[in-house]
Amino acid sequence: MFDALSERLTGVFDRITGRGALSEKDVDAALREIRVALLEADVALPAVKDFVNRVREKAVGEEVIRAVAPGQQVVKIVHDELVNLLGGEEEPDGLHLEGEPPVAILMAGLQGSGKTTTTAKLAKRITDRHRKKVLVASLDTRRPAAMEQLAQMAEKAGVASLPIVKGQTAVEIARRAMQAGRLQGYDVVILDTAGRTSIDEEMMGEAARIAEITRPRETILVADALTGQDAVETARRFDERLKLTGLVLTRMDGDGRGGAALSMRWVTGLPIKFIGTSEKIDGLDAFDAKRLAGRILG
Ligand code: GDP
Repeated sequence: MFDALSERLTGVFDRITGRGALSEKDVDAALREIRVALLEADVALPAVKDFVNRVREKAVGEEVIRAVAPGQQVVKIVHDELVNLLGGEEEPDGLHLEGEPPVAILMAGLQGSGKTTTTAKLAKRITDRHRKKVLVASLDTRRPAAMEQLAQMAEKAGVASLPIVKGQTAVEIARRAMQAGRLQGYDVVILDTAGRTSIDEEMMGEAARIAEITRPRETILVADALTGQDAVETARRFDERLKLTGLVLTRMDGDGRGGAALSMRWVTGLPIKFIGTSEKIDGLDAFDAKRLAGRILG
């Protein structure tokens, strides 16, 4: 668990405080703790190695070794590198909605990741904060319950949803949504693509076709933060096929781990745009690298 990291680091530095200078051996002992803590938090091994190397490079520098409080200095380096890795000072709520309306946003993800809930949350957020007129549409033709669910959540949130027409294919619904968007003056159309239990060629082909037709300004993968490294593999495969523009990590209100966030960012290089923090409609926060880094360090 991440919570242990700052304690572990403090433990290492407690043993060496009073000695003044920090040796390379001391730094290595601290790095071992960081490495173990990150691996236990389910961060992918290559990401852990890369991270530890970056911290080492900075920590063994003369400045740190001669510093008055070298322990604190290393904790600061770890913090700064975490912020860096998580996307640094990226603009919060950095959605690209400019362009000729209606601007499409494509939502992708595995079934159960929180995609439909996030679609409704995002629609409400864009309506409230960006003052845009938003239409949502479910393209999940294989699961009528999912289409119903989005319509109900949208209604509760005060957001328009595309009327459900039975028997249409996902591509036909996507076309209808964009047309409704144009004719009815919507600024943004959010398309909730079908969620599957695993990634398959048919699913990817359909999503890619929808992307071709609607030319989304944002293609966002919704992933469950609690699924750890599986989520990372999912992100990689979706990105290969759909050219994602960002990620939303749901269930960050879960057990406090940030391992998935670190790994996903490292593997895909994609910005984490939002995090899901509850089941409620307003449970969507702009991603804040500093805050997560603070939480990781404890
Ligand atoms: P989908 O199959 O990907 O469309 O998933 P849903 O949107 O239906 O969500 C699955 C379950 O996860 C529902 O019970 C949601 O209320 C819940 N959920 C979604 N996002 C979050 C979140 O950020 N935090 C929590 N605690 N629950 C969430």
